[in-house]
Amino acid sequence: MTTEVRSARSLRGILHGARARVRELALATRPVHPETQAALERRWSELPPGARVPAQTLGQHAVGCEGTHGVFPKCNLACTPCYHSRDANRVAISGEHTRGEVGEQMAFFRRIRGPRAHAQLIGGEVTLLPADDHAATLKLMLDAGREPMSMTHGDFDADYLTEVALGPDGKKRFDRLSFAGHFDMLMFGRRGIERPADEASLNPHRRAFTAMFAELKRRHGVRYFLAHNMTVTPRNVDQIADVLAECHDYGFGMFSFQPAAFVGDDRRWHDGYREIDADIVWAEIERGAGSRLPYGVFQNGDVRCNRTAYGFYVGHRWYPVLDDQSPRDLAVRDAFFRYCGGINFSGTPIPLLAVKLARVVARHPQVAAIFLGWLGRTLRGVGPRKLLSERIRPVSFVMHSFMDAGDVAPAWAAMQRGEALTDPVLKATQERLQACSYAMAHPETGELVPACVQHGVLDPGENAALRVLLPLAPVTDRRIRHATPTTAGSVRAGGPGVAGA
Ligand code: SF4
Repeated sequence: MTTEVRSARSLRGILHGARARVRELALATRPVHPETQAALERRWSELPPGARVPAQTLGQHAVGCEGTHGVFPKCNLACTPCYHSRDANRVAISGEHTRGEVGEQMAFFRRIRGPRAHAQLIGGEVTLLPADDHAATLKLMLDAGREPMSMTHGDFDADYLTEVALGPDGKKRFDRLSFAGHFDMLMFGRRGIERPADEASLNPHRRAFTAMFAELKRRHGVRYFLAHNMTVTPRNVDQIADVLAECHDYGFGMFSFQPAAFVGDDRRWHDGYREIDADIVWAEIERGAGSRLPYGVFQNGDVRCNRTAYGFYVGHRWYPVLDDQSPRDLAVRDAFFRYCGGINFSGTPIPLLAVKLARVVARHPQVAAIFLGWLGRTLRGVGPRKLLSERIRPVSFVMHSFMDAGDVAPAWAAMQRGEALTDPVLKATQERLQACSYAMAHPETGELVPACVQHGVLDPGENAALRVLLPLAPVTDRRIRHATPTTAGSVRAGGPGVAGA
């Protein structure tokens, strides 16, 4: 080969490599990844007509939240109600099983729902996993493009948190961790407060939980996002306001309330959960926030399932990001969906996000004027003196109302048959399931199922099978004859359960 030919080939190679890098860069800085765009369009087309409203986030900005299942159902506290089936505490914790299942579930989400989404690492109690397995599972989720949040009762030690956050070499494994701590007086067995008399008595535990993360950040530079979860029943509904008044500046970025439903272990159903409705609970949250909470700006799925108000505290006062009674704010919301819908704000490094937004503005210069106008109005609404003298803390309020298993089971069965039911309750249940914003993955059947279906229909069979796959103690042939593990690493839901459970 002559020198000229070699030079020409090498030049072609360089040009080819440069073109590939430009293509990669163009894709990386594209405001919305094409697979995300396709997943959004699919999600929008699947929504029932009643959910395709201007406020809808699904299909316009997000595909919805994701959660794990069939991984570590065991928990060392007792909640009333508990959404897990009665076999949950008879399954041994296995890091290997968790990593295997979560890996498959996340790969499935990645294929079906695109490269980015929020996903909850949820089962029974996540901190029963050995710290290394917990960290490895979070890594798996991140590698699949998920932004993981560990769901915990919060009763664990700072040493455990440090072990999750730092590797054996003492170097941090994560720049940022997200945890949701579940605290309410309906949970029994917490160390130091086995049976809380009221919500207020849990405040020191709420404080200790957030303090662990603040210390982790101070000592090791690991940033964090914390959510506070609270189940609501007639017993504690009138204590919501005091919890918020006391805890709003503890360090939680989200307060999420779940009105109790008749799901899971029926031995743990103790109250008339239907005595309180969504409006009563939301009014108490507003009383605690000291502000009207405009949940009409953004709708995540069906408003009967979810209400969300995004905003921020300046000092002790909460302000909404957008107000659903302001036509100008609603126009900003519409512009956000039109020009920025699908952009991943929370999981994109700031420099890359800035480039993506610059591309949006270059293409649609009017966006800058719309958002600068909104920013100016918002800052004026708070007042310059307050802005300069008080701390600004983003805090959102959420209410997520699970449905009763007794309604979900027949509604889901009919949906599987392609049947739309006309009974008003079951019709509403089907609409809510169709617009579900919280999905769980079943790669073995190729299905995504709403969490209501997972907990209300599939968990009992799944946990019965897990009990065989991961027994607390060696099992005999007689005890295992009803459950059917399908593969060494996975179990199929819907089995008939274990006799005598
Ligand atoms: S899990 Fe149930 S309550 Fe939650 S969004 Fe889905 S259907 Fe609605």
